[in-house]
Amino acid sequence: MTLENEKYGLFAVANATAHELTYRIPAGLQQQMQRGVLCALPVQGRKLVGAFLGWCDKPSFECRPVEGVIENCPPLKSKLVDLLYWVAGYYCAPLGRTIHLAGPGFLWSPEAHLKRHKRTEKRARKIRNETENEALPLKQLTEEQQAAVRAVASSEDGRTTLLQGVTGSGKTEVYLHLVAQTLESGKTALVLVPEIALTPQMCERFRVHFPRQLAVLHSGLTAVEYEREWFRAAGGEAGVVLGVRSAVFAPLENIGLIIVDEEHEQSYKCDEFPCYQARDVAVKRSQLENARCLLGSATPSLESFLNAERGRYSKVQLQTRHSRLSNRTELFQYRPKLHSTGGIGRGVVKSSQFSFTGPVVAQGVVDLIADAHARGEQSMVILNRRGFAQFVLCGDCGEALKCPNCSVSTTLHSRGTRELCHYCGFSRPTLSECTSCKSSKLVHMGIGTQNLEQELSERIHGLVVDRLDRDVLTSHSRLSEIISKFRSGETHCLVGTQMLSKGHDFPKVTLVAVLNVEDGLFVPDYRSAERTFQLLCQAAGRSGRGRIAGVVAVQSLGANHPVIHLALEGAVDRFLADELQMRQLGWHPPVCRQILVEMQHSNENYLLQQAAQLQKDLAEIWQAQKLTPADVRLTGPMPAVLSKLRGVHRVHLVISARKEIHPARLVPPELSVRKELQHIMRVDVDPFSFL
Ligand code: ADP
Ligand code: ZN
Ligand code: ZN
Repeated sequence: MTLENEKYGLFAVANATAHELTYRIPAGLQQQMQRGVLCALPVQGRKLVGAFLGWCDKPSFECRPVEGVIENCPPLKSKLVDLLYWVAGYYCAPLGRTIHLAGPGFLWSPEAHLKRHKRTEKRARKIRNETENEALPLKQLTEEQQAAVRAVASSEDGRTTLLQGVTGSGKTEVYLHLVAQTLESGKTALVLVPEIALTPQMCERFRVHFPRQLAVLHSGLTAVEYEREWFRAAGGEAGVVLGVRSAVFAPLENIGLIIVDEEHEQSYKCDEFPCYQARDVAVKRSQLENARCLLGSATPSLESFLNAERGRYSKVQLQTRHSRLSNRTELFQYRPKLHSTGGIGRGVVKSSQFSFTGPVVAQGVVDLIADAHARGEQSMVILNRRGFAQFVLCGDCGEALKCPNCSVSTTLHSRGTRELCHYCGFSRPTLSECTSCKSSKLVHMGIGTQNLEQELSERIHGLVVDRLDRDVLTSHSRLSEIISKFRSGETHCLVGTQMLSKGHDFPKVTLVAVLNVEDGLFVPDYRSAERTFQLLCQAAGRSGRGRIAGVVAVQSLGANHPVIHLALEGAVDRFLADELQMRQLGWHPPVCRQILVEMQHSNENYLLQQAAQLQKDLAEIWQAQKLTPADVRLTGPMPAVLSKLRGVHRVHLVISARKEIHPARLVPPELSVRKELQHIMRVDVDPFSFL
């Protein structure tokens, strides 16, 4: 073999803990190597797929040859590879843990490619028979909407614009026009939405205008459907991709526009490592692609609001509601009768931790629901219970029934007859004896959506009530059944949790009631006010979307919290400005940068040792960079709120730093690949949840 033929390359291999792996590239394959090409590689006795990143010098160690190039599969786009490098760097992850984001599961297994090959041939026959629908013309925009389109279209390449517009102001119409313009200019467009299963209308609105160019990427698709959509985008057949969080890595090229709808939504944040925030990745991607980025929301996140304040983003507003009349709002202060439960009441009492003997819904709210029903209109009742559901408390010692594997109380299901752990899935018939003191005085606490469903159908004659909550979301068919029954009017009232407030467009809903608002306000989290505000604004946006003005009813235990009033007045800018001031005072994000380092291990002592060691190492790393306590602070190590999950102990370290300091300086990538830490540490940059 001549030296000439001896070439080596770097590869990103999905789910390898390393950053890059080196392979020898046989002469016969050298011609085909370009950045992003997918190859079959031997990795620790297995055959995996890796993406070619570039040539390198002959390494000092022995390395194995590339086995072959994956056929009939387009290479990862070069700019997407750039984006993944950025994600790895920013979210403190090795590239090996990041590259899989570039495409669905089948992309990373050589066998899956073979199976796909067979399917593709079958499909080619089928597609020819599909009828292709005509595209519907776009609606004529109002002056205000046109101005928003012009503002975005005339912004510099790579610039981000925040579009703040109340529900019904026509943000989606603006998106559609911008997408059409982008396609006309020969470029592609990427549209991100928080959750497609809940908002099928959004999908339809894009489909009727771009029937041939649209590809849709979300978890409700079967693997084969997903694969088809992915290839339509990768092959250049689809110029518009509409998708959820992971679609921010869609295989588009020549992107001209990226839209993030409901940019404040929590679901854009990924909770698996690397914990990327799709909105922020979208902004970065638009910069790398010289595309324009548009973030839309009725209630922008504080992060985006601050970026607009500081001039990093442009901002446009839509202030006129196009389709709907204003809502009337009513605030009900109502304290249901509390069950007296002796030993309970230690520590902080949350509103849902009482046991109610009387009805849960205020008579005034019941009257409004009954009135709407009598007029043939529909209602929604949202139970705000962030993380607190029904559980069982011992009336003697005050202990809750807990999951044996996790440090959380179990949640009651099936009308109280079963306990379920929402973290590990553990389930058993509800115990009748306290596990710590053996007392049989057990009290069922909290309000569940099931009680609510029952109470309303009992109190309002003839009212057909249905329920939409987390349990239902696990089944797509069940979900669409509930939604279509409500849409058709077969169901009169829909009861559920926060998710009800998102995105649905039911023209016959004229009443939205939010119960237990203060649950969200008193959780110990600096984002609780923001979350409650968004919930109330969005809930209000669900009412009166048709031709009838709506009512928003808010039932509280008596708290006259300013957040409730600002939300009901729709004073978004004032809320954001006030809240930003609070964050400044507390040195909380988005004013500072925050990184959550989570460590877990089944051996508690070992875990604490490792955490203490990491604390020392971090201090040294920062000192070496001359970072002072004014630049960076560490809180912890401390037990996580859920200090034990699935039998594994959990510890948190929270890093707060000046925003200009790049995360990789605070938690250098060497740490994540260090042997002792690899499997026990998870780094979450810009964390959203601290459980
Ligand atoms: P948003 O996305 O801000 O909630 P939408 O785009 O969904 O608002 O608009 C609300 C409703 O008003 C939709 O049914 C939409 O088709 C309609 N609408 C908005 N702008 C126009 C327009 N310029 N002409 C006709 N209908 C419009
Ligand atoms: Zn007890
Ligand atoms: Zn559990």
